[in-house]
Amino acid sequence: MYAQVAIKGPYGGLFSYTIPDALREAAIPGALALVPMGRGNRTGLIWSLADTCDYTGEIKPLADILGDTPPLNAELMRLLDYIARYYRQAPASIAAAALPAHLLHDRKRRVIWLGETAPPDSLSPALRALADHLRKRKNGLMESTIAQHVGRAGLDRKLKLLRDDGLIRIEESWDARHKARENPHWEAEEQAEVRQLHEPPQLTDEQQEAVDALNEAITAGRFAPFLLQGVTGSGKTEVYFRAVETALAQGRQALLLVPEISLTPQLTARYRVRFHETLAVFHSGLTPARRHDEWRRARSGQARVIIGARSALFAPFADLGLIVVDEEHDGSYKQEEGVPYHARDMAIVRASFNQAVVVLGSATPAMESLHNAQHGKYHHLRLTQRATGADLPPIELVDLSDPQNREGMRAHSLIGKTLREAMSETLAAGKQSLLFLNRRGFAPALLCNLCGHSVSCPNCAVALTLHKGRNQLMCHYCDHVADPPDVCPECGQLGLIRFGPGTERLEEEVKQRFPDANVARLDRDAVKGSADRLAKTLDAFRSGAVDILVGTQMIAKGHHFSGLSLVGVIAAESAMSQPDFRAAERAFQLVTQVAGRAGRERGQTGRVLVQTFDPQHYALTAAACHDADLFADQELRFRAEAEYPPFSRMALVRFSCEDLGEGDRFVAELRRNLPHTEGALVLGPAPAPLSKLRGRHRWQLMIKGADIRMVHQAVGRILAAAEPLAGRNLRIGVDIDPQAF
Ligand code: ADP
Ligand code: ZN
Repeated sequence: MYAQVAIKGPYGGLFSYTIPDALREAAIPGALALVPMGRGNRTGLIWSLADTCDYTGEIKPLADILGDTPPLNAELMRLLDYIARYYRQAPASIAAAALPAHLLHDRKRRVIWLGETAPPDSLSPALRALADHLRKRKNGLMESTIAQHVGRAGLDRKLKLLRDDGLIRIEESWDARHKARENPHWEAEEQAEVRQLHEPPQLTDEQQEAVDALNEAITAGRFAPFLLQGVTGSGKTEVYFRAVETALAQGRQALLLVPEISLTPQLTARYRVRFHETLAVFHSGLTPARRHDEWRRARSGQARVIIGARSALFAPFADLGLIVVDEEHDGSYKQEEGVPYHARDMAIVRASFNQAVVVLGSATPAMESLHNAQHGKYHHLRLTQRATGADLPPIELVDLSDPQNREGMRAHSLIGKTLREAMSETLAAGKQSLLFLNRRGFAPALLCNLCGHSVSCPNCAVALTLHKGRNQLMCHYCDHVADPPDVCPECGQLGLIRFGPGTERLEEEVKQRFPDANVARLDRDAVKGSADRLAKTLDAFRSGAVDILVGTQMIAKGHHFSGLSLVGVIAAESAMSQPDFRAAERAFQLVTQVAGRAGRERGQTGRVLVQTFDPQHYALTAAACHDADLFADQELRFRAEAEYPPFSRMALVRFSCEDLGEGDRFVAELRRNLPHTEGALVLGPAPAPLSKLRGRHRWQLMIKGADIRMVHQAVGRILAAAEPLAGRNLRIGVDIDPQAF
């Protein structure tokens, strides 16, 4: 038998080791192993066991198995293996994404001698030597210090034996650099929220129907995927609660995935009130020690409901019966750095491995999910009314190309007259406004500030991206290149501006226009490095201390503000000017979600103003009349015509290099040697939209195929062609089902 071990490092693949007799029982897939590598030892994850091994060099034995129970059980290992194959990623990278960081990197333990007297005679000579070393130090020794004295190999196993004899205690300690302060606001906020929560409400008829369907599936104990499409405020959370209760009553466990940004104290409070100590929460505000506790509670089965963002997909369960993916369309489910996996898609896979029910919930489902629902792959449940009886707020589209609206706007102004007046009225009435600016994407487009036209690719129907350095417009799908025009090709006027407005600029303009108002800003930059900054700002807005809040998608969903009466969307087309075929879908989702923040309580009228140059755009007109079906009809027709997902599958192969010339030469060479795959279209290589990132120039190659098998095949061939051409400085990465281009 050989153990195949995933080891983080530059080599990628799996490494083979023989298994010494003493470790035979403990060396199973999912266990952490200490393995000899080069001159020292490394920690790795046993990925699989094999009878044979192709490696012809010397095969060394495993040095040790770490920990008592393997951190990953057979069920998780099956998921990881699937992810590695599906996304074509190295097992070691997947292991790093799935394992709590401290297990691999921050293993610092202190060993404390408990026995008063000399070690018992029954110990073997090796254990006796170790015991003699340990008992001389009353305050304990760090594991690393002990290893220097007695050697690393077999140390963990020996310590376990001494511990089982009651001679020592092993304490985990945490690396000092991770002693991040726990968010002091979190618990206080949770408690404040808990006090406001009431009894579970009587379900509406629509909620009851959805709950009945879910309960039936959960009780049947088989894999069943659902799409729960419910308008904002329709009470999807209450439906999730009931489904979780049913799963628990069946003796099974439940996983709730939520987008990064909606993992707020308000949300966790709602879950804690219902599920008490059976709940474990995985959020970024936890210290490593707390995170480890939560992880252990899940691993042991003490916690039966786990709520967390993307990476909670890898939470350990004994018997997972239900997975909920809230706001399933949300972009944060796709990990873009490291291993590019989609937590929603893998939640479906995990549910199917576990004979579990999976619920994807959203007011604005992804086209992929809708398509699956329409074709019977998912059961489609719908909530069409707000649970509180409140009406959906009216949405007004404000035409920015209308000269009346442009009155008083300066060259780079972002706020038109209608919105400005509405803000003044709101302020005068002592109410609050929320201004929302989409800043997803980084690609500067060339946009006409007079007619709103954005210059797009003649071949691909996506916006062209302006590359300042090269001063050229480029298509990141097909490599079409054009010189930036001087006048707008649509209206013929000199209105073209580089577009990529920031929230900071918007905040500045608001402060200038409303010097007496209390203005705050929320975006990723504003809360960077401070977990409680977000909570504080939200708190200030909720309490009424802030009059106008300016922000990005961070404020688009999940939050509930009772004093909010005006929502303004700035530059609704900034989503549309992104070089991405999902641009219209994102614009629709955005407007719908932001509007959902307004007038959530009965009898409250909220006003939603959407500034746009293109009030006729189907994404905006459909959002304005709250008609998700109308939008889906048109969007799916467009996708079918252009053969974009869900009517095809895509992949990106990314290349990056510090040296522009070397990268350009590689790309040219690859272009000449590009292999062909029947049924797959290969576009590029072309510069990536973000053509330089952290000092590396980037290119990408896009693959489109009728189904995933063709895409996988084409990716395999391209990698086989590219790898021999790539010098040492060139990095190659694969992104299957890419969400960002
Ligand atoms: P969604 O997630 O669908 O946008 P929420 O779950 O946040 O909606 O619910 C919106 C509001 O409706 C919440 O304040 C919730 O407490 C309330 N609510 C949910 N179900 C009911 C119900 N059956 N009766 C009354 N209020 C409800
Ligand atoms: Zn193109």
